[in-house]
Amino acid sequence: MDPRRRRIELVLRIDGAAVAVSVPQPPSPARLDELLPAQRAIDDAAIAHAVRKAAAAGRTVACAKGCSACCRAQPVPVTPPEAYALLRLVEALPATRRHDVEARFDAREHQLDAAGLALPFLERADELDADSARVLAHAYFRLGLACPFLDDDACSIHPRRPFVCRQYLVTSDPALCADPFAHRAEVIPMPLRAASAGLAVSEAAYGRPQHAVPLSLALAYARRHRDELERRFEAEPLFRQWLGCLTD
Ligand code: SF4
Repeated sequence: MDPRRRRIELVLRIDGAAVAVSVPQPPSPARLDELLPAQRAIDDAAIAHAVRKAAAAGRTVACAKGCSACCRAQPVPVTPPEAYALLRLVEALPATRRHDVEARFDAREHQLDAAGLALPFLERADELDADSARVLAHAYFRLGLACPFLDDDACSIHPRRPFVCRQYLVTSDPALCADPFAHRAEVIPMPLRAASAGLAVSEAAYGRPQHAVPLSLALAYARRHRDELERRFEAEPLFRQWLGCLTD
């Protein structure tokens, strides 16, 4: 059988419920970004469960294609493997489209650099406390940088969007999402911490502290750390570790 088509059948226990999910088996050895298809399948199953639970409680998801408020200015944190997956995705685009998307990333990187924000996001030496992280995120937000993948108010990489984009679903008026620093939207609680678990796995694999970066700086981060992100590991132990960290 073609190994790319093998699947793993899992049953997740979420809120006491059994959630069945079929995931593509990662290759082995694998780069950490090659675990993402399986991880996204699990995350999507957990998200669907959370949405069903919210619906049963009378809460309906307000997010829909054409509303891009959360894609317009927020720093959208992505893990290093996600950043590398985005770089590889962009590098595989047809030449004209690649040039266009890379130009968008370059423009945002220059704006962040000019505002003195690129290095603090790219080279975070220590874990930021909550107040410092909020100040940094607010400074980013004030620049009003739309996601480079946003086209006509729709996500151009929807199946491969990062965990944080998948998990951010609101039941409040979408207008509140225009400024999350001024208004608190009602967000559906998510049962799994896919991105945090990804950072824990990255830290164990690469042997140094890892942090998320704003999506607009994903290509810059991935280019700086390409050698590290190219490293391959036996997939199963890392995948098991990720599963074990999902509810930490
Ligand atoms: S990747 Fe897609 S969903 Fe995420 S911020 Fe960008 S356009 Fe929005």
